[in-house]
Amino acid sequence: MEKQTHFNVWYFIAAALLILLFQQLWSAREQVETIPYSQFMALLHDGRVTEVSIAQTYIRGELNEPLADGSRYIYTERVDPAFAEELAEHGVEFTGIPESTFVSSLLSWVVPALVFFGLWYFLIRNIAGRQGLGGLMSVGKSKARVAVEKNIGTTFDDVAGVDEAKAELQEIVTFLKNPRSYGRLGARVPKGVLLVGPPGTGKTLLARAVAGEAEVPFFSINGSEFVEMFVGVGAARVRDLFEQARKNAPCIIFIDELDALGRARGITPVSGGGDEKEQTLNQLLAELDGFDASEGEVLLAATNRPEILDPALLRAGRFDRQILVDRPDKTGRVQILKVHVGKVKLDKTADLDQVAALTAGFSGADLANLVNEAAILATRRKGKSVTMDDFTAAIERIVAGLEKKSRILTAKERRIIAYHETGHALVTLALPGSEAVHKVSIIPRGIGALGYNIQRPTEDRYLMTRQELQDKMAGLLGGRAAEMLVFEEVSTGAADDLDKATDIARSMVMRYGMDETLGQAVYARKPAQFLSDTGLPRMEEAKTYSEVTAREIDQAVRDLVDRAFEAASTILMKNRSQLDQTANQLLESETLTADELPDRASLAA
Ligand code: ADP
Ligand code: MG
Ligand code: ZN
Repeated sequence: MEKQTHFNVWYFIAAALLILLFQQLWSAREQVETIPYSQFMALLHDGRVTEVSIAQTYIRGELNEPLADGSRYIYTERVDPAFAEELAEHGVEFTGIPESTFVSSLLSWVVPALVFFGLWYFLIRNIAGRQGLGGLMSVGKSKARVAVEKNIGTTFDDVAGVDEAKAELQEIVTFLKNPRSYGRLGARVPKGVLLVGPPGTGKTLLARAVAGEAEVPFFSINGSEFVEMFVGVGAARVRDLFEQARKNAPCIIFIDELDALGRARGITPVSGGGDEKEQTLNQLLAELDGFDASEGEVLLAATNRPEILDPALLRAGRFDRQILVDRPDKTGRVQILKVHVGKVKLDKTADLDQVAALTAGFSGADLANLVNEAAILATRRKGKSVTMDDFTAAIERIVAGLEKKSRILTAKERRIIAYHETGHALVTLALPGSEAVHKVSIIPRGIGALGYNIQRPTEDRYLMTRQELQDKMAGLLGGRAAEMLVFEEVSTGAADDLDKATDIARSMVMRYGMDETLGQAVYARKPAQFLSDTGLPRMEEAKTYSEVTAREIDQAVRDLVDRAFEAASTILMKNRSQLDQTANQLLESETLTADELPDRASLAA
């Protein structure tokens, strides 16, 4: 166990000091008188010294009769003989100064021993850490790795933008605060609650907040720690966790990253690790069955891959309630930003609404990171506070990778990119259903993306009409259409755009039933991200259509993409003068913001 190993260091140091102390005492007991060298010389002249032992720096001697204070043994530090002669001639009393033996012995053996011991301690800890053993002596005892926290400071105020999840968890807080009275009316608290959602959306944070709100101890283990362990250790640890929690009810047991532990049996190929995982999972299932929620223990778990969980875990009476913790919408993002800007000094220009508008798709963790990046940028430019520009720059950084100013483009390439990006922007602006363009740039960023367009969704979209999807595709193909129109040649710069456009077209045909010839039938399902209604993970969808239909699908997709390209080309042809003008402007200033772009109204659709 970590604690014991820690004690060992102190035992060791204490022992070392004791040995040194004994050494000192021992030499003192011999009744050796330390005398000046001049006195030694005098004794020598008087013939009183019977025997000496000479070391490099000192002399020990025995006298024929004891000195005045009764000691027969003497000790003196040596002095250079020639110099001693001279000093004696002049009747000076002189003595050598002993080097401190304490320091030298400390250096000569205590330090190497300490270094050695330190190294050993470090290695053991490392091995223990990796194998989750907590010290070599304690295989199978796992208490040390069950993290217990009392007085958690996190509250629901620290978690924003997930109001529905919070509302559901509030019930558990109420229960934990007073388990007895809750059961009075026969209300049953769910045994296990599973928080499900993409990474970084605040699942771990929420679990801690429940403990903080209810003011109960928080027992947690992380599923990923169970990987690579000796057989039996994981199971013992699970047993331990529940045992400790039982003694401390009311409390919360939290299993983070349950998927690492509760992976469906049989999915992992049969190998050495399989046994261990299965044992651990079986133990967990057994504990879940023997678990009595009315005592005031609540079991929470979190996962971002519910589809791989063993179905047995999700059966009634086990993790029978799932709470979805999804990425925040725009209002949610504003709230999360507000939580995180608490620690930074904001400038008047920093408009969190606008930041939220630019960060569709960001998770809570991304937003926390964004605020931090913005603060770093502000510090770096020695600003007094964090401005909107800092935020925009941080968003660009996170979205498009770090700016690579060093990358040099030829004049021709720059022209192509300028037209390409302007093409995207103008087509997007000309079509009524599409999103506003916030910024266009030809500064290369990261790998792959040459220029970029930041589009701002006017609102978070849950529904999109067919027209809107078509407009979006046209916008995506606007880049290539501009290249084609101006240079009568296409470049590789559009690969990513084509990919996205084709994706949309394929979804329109296969999933949304938006193609006339293929009708409303669905040919592909969205891969299950979250649990299906049955609670069972979905199997891979089999191809459910014939070869003939496959050909028709391909044809329909191609038609949709081609039509979008036509639409984009037409718009650009109609607005050729605007295209040239804006592209040149972009070439000059490298970036254009929304108000520097042509007006929506001035463009012919
Ligand atoms: P998950 O467990 O879902 O992967 P975490 O709870 O570990 O995500 O979140 C990581 C960090 O991101 C948190 O510590 C917090 O700073 C921030 N964060 C994530 N979601 C939110 C949220 N909804 N509100 C406030 N901060 C959040
Ligand atoms: Mg987490
Ligand atoms: Zn493009």
